[in-house]
Amino acid sequence: MSDTVDLTAALAPAGPAAPHSASGEEVATHDLGAVAPPARPARRWMPKRVVATPAAYDHPHGLRIMERLGELGLETERLASNRLTGVRGETDRETYARAKSTLAIVVSPPSRRRLQPIAPSADWRFDLAEGCPAHCQYCYLAGSLSGPPVTRVYADLDDILAGLADYVGRGTITSRRAARRDEGTTFEASCYTDPLALEHLTGSWRRAVTFFGAWDAPVQLRWTTKFDDVDGFAGLRHEGRTRVRLSVNCLPVTSRFEGGTAPLPARLAALRRLAEDGYPVGLTIAPIMAMPDWRDHYGVLLDAVAAAVDGVRDLDLTAELITHRFTPGSKEVLLGWYPRTRLDLDEQSRSRKHGKFGAVKYVYPPETMTALRAWFETEIARRVPACRILYWT
Ligand code: SF4
Repeated sequence: MSDTVDLTAALAPAGPAAPHSASGEEVATHDLGAVAPPARPARRWMPKRVVATPAAYDHPHGLRIMERLGELGLETERLASNRLTGVRGETDRETYARAKSTLAIVVSPPSRRRLQPIAPSADWRFDLAEGCPAHCQYCYLAGSLSGPPVTRVYADLDDILAGLADYVGRGTITSRRAARRDEGTTFEASCYTDPLALEHLTGSWRRAVTFFGAWDAPVQLRWTTKFDDVDGFAGLRHEGRTRVRLSVNCLPVTSRFEGGTAPLPARLAALRRLAEDGYPVGLTIAPIMAMPDWRDHYGVLLDAVAAAVDGVRDLDLTAELITHRFTPGSKEVLLGWYPRTRLDLDEQSRSRKHGKFGAVKYVYPPETMTALRAWFETEIARRVPACRILYWT
């Protein structure tokens, strides 16, 4: 790994994006074997080093982030240029760990200001940050980043939000799917990060929620999270224009494969809290895994969801269902990170498919997919009847 990091470059590669809970089958990966730190239990992430590029000081939100960090006892180091030095350690592991514990306040790269469609989740994706402190063993972010994983948060938030107006009415997801027409143009804001992993440091997603709340137009902000830190969102003027989805899974998945995230009961409590505050809410059930006894495990999950939303008035609850898949590249990276992982990465038990951009991916065979889909559709209707399924993939 190089000692200097160009903070004007995007952290994740250009090209097709995938929601972070999917497996990003079309994203190129790099082998980071032997450099990943072990998973830690969930807690509010506090970076060890905070830096800001000179341009970040020209943006009010950059200054707001610095002030917020100051209140948390974190001092921001002003860089002389857009290049960050001092990341190199004695070993690759040390370099990696230093990058992973550094937060950079930067202006978003121009490539991030041209929005990309992100089917089937939303019409458009936009980014408020890149990088995540959690350690999900199936996460495509792990191996797809283009350099040391310094988490970037964007100082030009106000410009990013103002730029969204150009895209209203131009999406294809909500206009083509009758079930989603009431959502207006949808904007996904959690592609390369987990919002609630960073919100206490930036305030960016709260600002986005109030921006959409004040935006009297057919638009919807969407983001998904595996964290539960929603206190700051209760009471905001969201006006129903933000759908927060909690990324959930059955306990064998959340407890084995999702290092550094909030436990499932805490995520479901956060779901209830937001629903009680009038937010449209959702479940991102991903990645769905056909493990032994999967019906029992996912049945327990759906019952826990039903209990979590029981009695919530005017509940607006959706589900997005994403099955597990992997590529030869992502398998290599993930086995490098987690050599003893119990993640099922056996090509023999999967169907080989070509993604939209020609990349090979391994998905469950058709009979498994059919059984999973039928089960989820039936059981969601039976156990959580208020829940609308938005898509299956
Ligand atoms: S929480 Fe972080 S590590 Fe886990 S899937 Fe999402 S982006 Fe990846």
